[in-house]
Formats: sequence, C-alpha cells, structure tokens
Amino acid sequence: MEKRAILITGGSRGIGRAVALGAAARGWPVALSWHSDRAAADETVEQIVALDGQAVAIRADVAVEGDVVALFEQAEAALGRLDAVVVNAGIVAPSMPLAEMSLDRMRAVIDTNLLGALLCAREAARRLPRPVEEPAAALVLVSSIAAKLGSPYEYVDYAATKGAVDTLTIGLAKELAGQNIRVNAVRPGLIDTAIHASGGRPGRARELAHLVPMQRPGTPEEVAEAILWLAGGAASYASGAILDIGGGR
Ligand code: NAP
Repeated sequence: MEKRAILITGGSRGIGRAVALGAAARGWPVALSWHSDRAAADETVEQIVALDGQAVAIRADVAVEGDVVALFEQAEAALGRLDAVVVNAGIVAPSMPLAEMSLDRMRAVIDTNLLGALLCAREAARRLPRPVEEPAAALVLVSSIAAKLGSPYEYVDYAATKGAVDTLTIGLAKELAGQNIRVNAVRPGLIDTAIHASGGRPGRARELAHLVPMQRPGTPEEVAEAILWLAGGAASYASGAILDIGGGR
C-alpha cells in the first residue's frame, strides 16, 4: 500500500481535519498544524490514534516565518521526509463591502491566506525535491471558488487572496516540475465548516445553499477526497491543475 508522509496546515478542524483523517485511513503518517484551538487539534490526533494511525499536532501561525520553518522541522523530525504538503490554513472575516473594511482586517486576511500560503509553499519547495526516479512529491493548495466569484459584499479581500493562490499554483507548478514536485490547487465551494461562524454567520452554508446548482453545501470529506487524490501517487501526471469542488458553482 502507498504510504505518504503528509503535512496539513490547519489540519485540526474543518476541511484540514477531514484531510488528516482521510490520510490516516489510507495508512499515511500525518503531521497537522493548529493555531489557536489546541483542543480541536488534540481531538483530531486522538481520532487518528484510535484508528491505529500516526499523527502529531504542531502549533504554528502560518503568517509567521519562524513558526512555518519550525513547523516543517518538527513535522520532519516526527515523520521523516515529507511526501505531501497541504496548504490549507485560512480565515475569513465578517461580511461587508470593501468600502467598510479596515486596514487591520485586510492585513489579517492577506497575512494568513496569502503570505501564509507563500511561506508554507516556499518551505515545501525547499524540502520536497527528489530524484525523478522516485514518485513525485505533492503540494496541494486550498484556494476557493471565491477566486472566480469575487465574493461581492461579503469579502472581496478574501477572494483576492484566493485568486493569488490560484496564480501561485500555476507558477509554482512550472517552477517545481523539474524537481519532481507536483503543485495543484483545490477550490472548495460552500462547505459546511465552522469558518462561517468565525466570519459571524454560522448558518451561511445552509442559507446560501440555494445558490449552488446542487442545492446543498458540501462536506469537508467531499473536499478532502480531491485533496488526497492530488496528494497521492494516483495523480502522478496532474500538475498545475485547479480543481473545483463546488457542487456545480
Ligand atoms: P476552519 O474550519 O475555520 O479551519 C481553519 C483551520 O485553519 C483551523 O485548523 C485553524 O486552526 C487554522 N488556522 C487559522 N488561522 C491560522 C493561522 N494564522 N495559522 C495557522 N493555522 C491557522 O476552515 P475550513 O472551512 O476548514 O477552511 C479550510 C480552508 O478551506 C481555508 O483555506 C478556506 O479558505 C478554504 N475554503 C473553505 C470553504 C468553506 O466554505 N468552508 C470554501 C472555500 C475555501 P485553529 O482552529 O487552531 O485556529
């Protein structure tokens, strides 16, 4: 059976947790990062251990360079060489038009979603290269359908960071192909996680379901399937892909 050591940023809750549990179910050793909610991280690790899996939880703010370097060092110390990295940690902020947004709010969204993605992708670029005779390493970035919808009146700042993540994916796939690293992105649509509560609208996924052609929110597990496919050897010729998991949106 294929065994891929995987690091998932923001792997303690939501989509990241579903990726962590799915990876463990495939027999992959897991390192997951968390930022403020230790209890959620511990619970995810406990669930993996209960499945006879291997998991380690590491605290790191993805917007802080030293934290990101330490995260990768600790993940490698626990699991050995990493085969796959999922750049998943992200935040939204309360819904409002751009005209009402403060600098602090925009900076927080950009720091976590864009600078954080760049720092984590840079660390992956430094550590994942391997000879072409070996199975490729994989970097999977979690973008959003917001990158193509723009999220007007809700969070155009968030949507702009995800558009940048798409562009990063396209460029980095070309830059790292020669080092045997595949780089891809997944764009989730409306997914039922606590991210909406953190943006002040706990019921958002259900309230907006009528805008989705499939007429329902997606689950974290449905997104995780796509991420895990891109992270695994079955996606051996996929690079530079941006895969929408949005129920037709
Ligand atoms: P979530 O349930 O709110 O989980 C967010 C995760 O990111 C948590 O593990 C959190 O850790 C971590 N995190 C937040 N800020 C961080 C920071 N500064 N440094 C390190 N980790 C941090 O969110 P989700 O819905 O699963 O979203 C995961 C990804 O999918 C995000 O990139 C999001 O933009 C994207 N996405 C989500 C949806 C959706 O509808 N849910 C749609 C499209 C795209 P703590 O809890 O410890 O703070």
